Amino acid sequence: MSAVVLNGKDVARKIRQELQDEIATETRRRGIPPKLLLFRVGEAEDACLYEQSITRLSDRFGFVVEKSVHSGADSPGQIRFNLKEVAGRADVDGILVLSPFPSGHDYHECVRSLPVSKDAEGTRYSPGAATVEVYPPTAMAVMEMVLASNIQVEGLHAVVVGRSPIVGRPAADLLLKHNATVTVCHSRTRNLEDFVASADILVAATGKPGLIKGAWIKPGAVCVDAGETVVNGAPAGDIDFNAALERAGFLTPVPSGVGPVTPLMLVRNLLTLSRGSSGS
Ligand code: NDP
Repeated sequence: MSAVVLNGKDVARKIRQELQDEIATETRRRGIPPKLLLFRVGEAEDACLYEQSITRLSDRFGFVVEKSVHSGADSPGQIRFNLKEVAGRADVDGILVLSPFPSGHDYHECVRSLPVSKDAEGTRYSPGAATVEVYPPTAMAVMEMVLASNIQVEGLHAVVVGRSPIVGRPAADLLLKHNATVTVCHSRTRNLEDFVASADILVAATGKPGLIKGAWIKPGAVCVDAGETVVNGAPAGDIDFNAALERAGFLTPVPSGVGPVTPLMLVRNLLTLSRGSSGS
């Protein structure tokens, strides 16, 4: 058997068109485009690069980006106050708090001040919460890749390897919402191989390149690899891709699997928040 390779760029192309149409519709409905506020503390290179990439995304999709930049010299209390203040603005639909923060500031403590109703990146996500449909974008992208296989998820056994709050746990929650029977594995799981072998749907989200051996995979399984770790200068996934090709039914590559879909899920979250904030 040779797996169907699920190319994230193809999946992204389709979603991009849908989102562009939805943003245009939402903009017509409200009379103004959705607004995302990028909240940055300090000048960390990664935060600035992410800010630039989101700004490019906004040009492409037609939503508005506003930058709110704060000095690392301000106290953590002042920064939290500033975040609450912008979160209270009616013209701001969603807020993305850029990381990392400068030393002396705690990113996680700060984002706790962000109301769920403005949380564009799902940083306030908690498993099982049903009020807001916003999840961390990488987990949403994992679910999109599973759905791109066109399999019937309901009733299948999904195994998620990794339990971080930004990938593994929310991916497990989304699979549960689609009525899969879900097992979550982690670094203390005994006999990982046995769990993987029972997975109709396998999600790998560990950042341990090649952890999942091809021979472990159930023949025909849908395998989504969220892991992306640079090895010898090239990105590598958690699943041994070449060996997995021989057993899986569907398999995402690294790169060009989950990665291209992830930023689009931020746009989807902004739309969700925008619709919620205007009472629709
Ligand atoms: P974390 O380090 O936060 O979490 C890793 C998880 O993997 C933990 O739950 C850990 O278990 C588990 N784990 C580690 N080693 C093993 C092992 N040997 N067996 C089973 N489970 C193990 O990573 P993230 O969730 O932030 O990221 C995971 C991967 O996803 C990374 O490669 C990251 O680069 C990638 N990523 C990809 C994105 C994309 O858009 N494609 C975006 C964000 C992340 P425990 O909890 O016990 O420590």
